[in-house]
Amino acid sequence: MNLIDLTVPLNEQTPVYPGDPATRIKPQGTLATDGSNDHYISVGTHVGTHIDAPLHMLADGKNLDAMPVEQFVGKGVYVKVENRQFDLEKLRAADIKQGDIVLFHTGLDEHYHDPAYYSDFPEMPAEVAEYLVTKQIKMVGFDMSGPDHPPFKIHKILLGASILIIENLTNLAELAGKNFTVYALPVKLQLDGAPARVIAQIAG
Ligand SMILES: [Zn+2]
Repeated sequence: MNLIDLTVPLNEQTPVYPGDPATRIKPQGTLATDGSNDHYISVGTHVGTHIDAPLHMLADGKNLDAMPVEQFVGKGVYVKVENRQFDLEKLRAADIKQGDIVLFHTGLDEHYHDPAYYSDFPEMPAEVAEYLVTKQIKMVGFDMSGPDHPPFKIHKILLGASILIIENLTNLAELAGKNFTVYALPVKLQLDGAPARVIAQIAG
């Protein structure tokens, strides 16, 4: 099993979207005093590596728990974003098929803890998002905070086509040139998004 973890750790230091409350983790019990370790966590639905459901941006959109589980697993397609440019021609050459999960590698996860992480990133052009819609992929993922800035036009194009969005991935460089399957499994919250464990299984 050749597995690569594409998930960032979730702790009190995990960056949050500007203005969101920080993640809090409180011990509730300990082995010494209570017979077991236990914690209470206070965490946003869009913290760390997580998946956006349609309801995140669309009033009539579905919650994450309403999506079929088949949508969380699929053949992966690795696309390198060079010089912060999404290249539609390169994407056309990538042999994307219906049901694929397309991961865009920008390298911006190296700046995950920089204050500019949530403001200084390239927006996916609408024609790239619309191309992914025509391909009927299951999910699209990024090693940056998301595909666009407010007013989130790209989120709406993708989620409106039931393409789920995986944000704040890491380790995507390890997928370059590989055949792989993506497993992006969110916590089954009946909400607009949820932290997820995302792994890739390399074929062969
Ligand atoms: Zn999100």
